[in-house]
Amino acid sequence: MVREPVEAFIGLGANLGEPMAALRQALARLAELPYTELLAASGLYGSTPVDSSGPDYVNAVAWVRTRLTAPALLEALQHQEASAGRERPYRNAPRTLDLDLLLYGSARMEGPTLTVPHPRMTERAFVLLPLAEIAPHRVSDAELASVQGQGIWRLAG
Ligand code: ADP
Ligand code: MG
Repeated sequence: MVREPVEAFIGLGANLGEPMAALRQALARLAELPYTELLAASGLYGSTPVDSSGPDYVNAVAWVRTRLTAPALLEALQHQEASAGRERPYRNAPRTLDLDLLLYGSARMEGPTLTVPHPRMTERAFVLLPLAEIAPHRVSDAELASVQGQGIWRLAG
């Protein structure tokens, strides 16, 4: 636990099973994490796989305030992925639930199991558009322009 709460952003994605239900459930479970408050969640977006394969993805971004350290938060996210039936048969395989720690306050860290900010987040429309919806101050116009043309659309509800 850290003394002062930190605002963090989590990227959610799924393209196997029932992705919309998986993301709604994942958001509900994020709200129940210890020492953590869910501040906001974007709407759900559909996207075509980038660096991955299989059916279209459903994506969203969540904004939390947490007293968990970044490694503890990542561990909680991985536990949640596992209980949603996540398997890792190969790199970038389709998945029932992917939870990525995008930003942890203004922290910059690079280690064998955790890099923050998430190294590929600024290349991905499916991260930047939902992030910009709930936290426009965290995404620049130049970043949004650089992912224009990637297949992403807003889903109802
Ligand atoms: P990806 O999300 O990149 O498609 P995985 O979800 O399988 O791939 O994650 C692979 C590894 O990435 C995890 O085992 C985790 O330790 C590591 N990782 C490093 N930085 C992060 C981060 N910021 N958020 C989530 N996972 C991360
Ligand atoms: Mg991941």
